[in-house]
Amino acid sequence: MDKKGMLIVISAPAGCGKDTIVHGLFREFGEFSKYSEFEVYKNKLKLHYSVSATTRAMRTGEEEGVHYYFITREKFERLIGEGEFLEYTEYCGNYYGTRRKTIMNTIEEGGNIILKIEAEGAANIVRMFPDAVLIFILPPSLTELRRRLVSRGTEDDNTIELRIQRARIELANAGDYKYHVTNDDLQTAINEVADIILSEIDRRDGHE
Ligand code: 5GP
Repeated sequence: MDKKGMLIVISAPAGCGKDTIVHGLFREFGEFSKYSEFEVYKNKLKLHYSVSATTRAMRTGEEEGVHYYFITREKFERLIGEGEFLEYTEYCGNYYGTRRKTIMNTIEEGGNIILKIEAEGAANIVRMFPDAVLIFILPPSLTELRRRLVSRGTEDDNTIELRIQRARIELANAGDYKYHVTNDDLQTAINEVADIILSEIDRRDGHE
């Protein structure tokens, strides 16, 4: 059994709740899940998370090495030069990058790894890993998206406008993704993402 793990790319415009969905996914199906009834899924899903590096400022509640590795622009640019990143992008004025070593080690060991990255990064990943599983999270509507971004209160008005503009572009390109999940009801969305991953595992194992 030396089967390689798969890459699961989850994208969504800011404010669609992808962080909450991924958090829920790990709470219920991750390594440290307390839900014994999910044991069978947990063992099958073998979920890991790719912690990206970023140059953006840490938000309240975020932790170094858990949500991101928070680094300076100088360090990020040096790491680009050293080939540290499998892919990276500049998003609304900050760098974000996926660390090559984490991904390669995890899939070599048969783990499935979730990359929570934006659309440009997703396209780069598919170029390198054509069988990566691409999931796009949709907001119920753009009005609801704006409401969520404003009520979250983590960004200033300019950044919110920038992120909404970017959201329009990303939503227009959502067709490039194989799977789409609407985050209307959180639990339903979490279950849908888990089902997608389980069905992809089955498909790869050859019993659809
Ligand atoms: P945020 O600042 O809200 O945490 O993230 C902004 C955007 O950057 C989100 O769409 C997030 O998914 C994306 N992102 C986070 N890490 C990476 C990464 O390593 N690579 C790419 N391409 N995008 C990322």
